Amino acid sequence: MSSKIPYKIYLNEDEIPSQWYNVRADMKNKPAPLISPADGHALTIEEMNPIFCEELNKQELDNNTPYFDIPGEVLDFYKMYRPSPLIRAYFLEKALQTPAKIYYKFEGNNTSGSHKLNSSIAQAYYAKKQGLKGVTTETGAGQWGTALSMACAYFNLDCKVFMVKVSYEQKPFRREVMRTYGATVTPSPSNTTKVGCKILADHPGTTGSLGCAISEAVETAVTTPGYRYVLGSVLSQVVLHQSIIGLETKKALEKYDIKPDIIIGCAGGGSNLGGFAAPFFGEILRGEANYKIIGVEPSSCPSFTRGKYAYDFCDTGMICPLAKMYTLGSQFIPSANHAGGLRFHGISPILAQLYHDGYFEARAVEQSSVFEAATQFARTEGILPAPESSHAIRVALDEAIKCKESGEEKTIIFNLTGTGYYDLKAYQQYNDKTMTDVIPSDDAIKDSLSKLPKIGN
Ligand SMILES: *Cc1c(COP(=O)(O)O)cnc(C)c1O
Repeated sequence: MSSKIPYKIYLNEDEIPSQWYNVRADMKNKPAPLISPADGHALTIEEMNPIFCEELNKQELDNNTPYFDIPGEVLDFYKMYRPSPLIRAYFLEKALQTPAKIYYKFEGNNTSGSHKLNSSIAQAYYAKKQGLKGVTTETGAGQWGTALSMACAYFNLDCKVFMVKVSYEQKPFRREVMRTYGATVTPSPSNTTKVGCKILADHPGTTGSLGCAISEAVETAVTTPGYRYVLGSVLSQVVLHQSIIGLETKKALEKYDIKPDIIIGCAGGGSNLGGFAAPFFGEILRGEANYKIIGVEPSSCPSFTRGKYAYDFCDTGMICPLAKMYTLGSQFIPSANHAGGLRFHGISPILAQLYHDGYFEARAVEQSSVFEAATQFARTEGILPAPESSHAIRVALDEAIKCKESGEEKTIIFNLTGTGYYDLKAYQQYNDKTMTDVIPSDDAIKDSLSKLPKIGN
């Protein structure tokens, strides 16, 4: 049967999975719960309901149900851009002269340009079903805000996005996409919230940060009737929604009897890696198979490889619940690195627990080597990859080159999370050879980690 594998393996529309997979159900050691920053007790659904949507809170707190039905309206929306193709990187393999077989799942084939739409559409659906007027969120580089504003337009929900001020000014195109979908975009910190006013007073002229935009979005949600706050990564519900990537990948591989050896994803908040690898983690956890799974992070923001497994704040304003994760400290400010979507100081509690228990490895890679890989990929496979996605490409290339040296015919799969058409400033720096690699010092990390909260640790 396995004659030649096609360049693109497509599933049929009716083969899109109809359920999300909750990897927590197969974990013996469950991820640590979200806790209150006041006294460390595990948050209850009643405490979470004023901030987040009810149905999403149920998903967040459910460590035991293995499968959740994908609502019909969400599946209908998925059909606009799913199933996404699993592509055999024949041209890249040839250029590398490697015996390895390389496949990538391409999640950038939608207007938002990334995998984030998989969760934003689910979150907007549950908000609408609850009868809410709208949702608030933060966005850094702009991918999540774009995905959420598309989803809110579809369900006719209001969408208030707090965009980190420096991105608001530097990425006017992203901002205009969001506004075109009907979202209100406010540069953060702003004077529309108490926490924003305080940050502005304490740090005049600040260009903002993701942690600060989260604080503003949460405050707006809890003080505006009919609004809740939604988040594009880190949370377990987001990993659940992103399992659609892994489930489709597995189905496509099974169609051609392909067994991956190495599974690679970039790690920002962890939702794409968690979702892409979820069914494979499930097999490992149930003792059915073994894979080498690798999470790739930037050397400039190395949560897994240099952070600490501890409870920490998710936001700078310290008003959100505490999550147990590999963290560099909530006060850690990554250098102005262009992989905006990977610049978060923490990581999904699910992935943190799996990493702690040794189910996968993590690697940190430097920005210039990431763009070298991105460029090689663009020149062979044609797609201009997002800088975030290119972290996964870097390690896929490294593994394929190892195969060339050893003569091993390994099968490597990676998640190509998105396209880089709004990241051309970074490509320009790389092309002009003005890109630099910034790696935090041990002292900077130690200093930031010394400010971890006492609660929970
Ligand atoms: C947001 C983003 C990421 C990071 O995703 P996580 O799920 O938080 O790890 C990676 N790639 C692209 C293109 C993104 O937009």
